[in-house]
Amino acid sequence: MTCSLCNKETLGESHNAHPIGNKECCSECNSSSVIPLRLFLSGLYQNKALVLKTDNSIDFIKPNGTKFELDELQNQVNGYIEVYPLRIPGHIVLVNEEGLIKNMDFNYLASRIFGMKAVGPVMICPEGIFE
Ligand SMILES: [Zn+2]
Repeated sequence: MTCSLCNKETLGESHNAHPIGNKECCSECNSSSVIPLRLFLSGLYQNKALVLKTDNSIDFIKPNGTKFELDELQNQVNGYIEVYPLRIPGHIVLVNEEGLIKNMDFNYLASRIFGMKAVGPVMICPEGIFE
């Protein structure tokens, strides 16, 4: 089968890629993205933020201190932060304020998972570690 996330051919087990789309994914994507994302969305990780990147990769970022400083947030979205009007209980969604002006790439992961029409990196931050 072809993994719907990394597009690689794989002979191994296939997994349900939900919530990153409804198709199959490989074991590698399942353990690196799908499972961590499900755990994050269940509210298990209150001490780290999720970053959805435009290259379709997913990062989990911890603040250097107990909460994120402004410059750490800006580093993740590659510029000035803007709070995106999407309600995820207990979380704040951040995008690059100038993403459209800077012609940043469309964020397909954010679109597939949350139905967001966003460009550039998207950061989902638990309220408890948001300054
Ligand atoms: Zn894959």
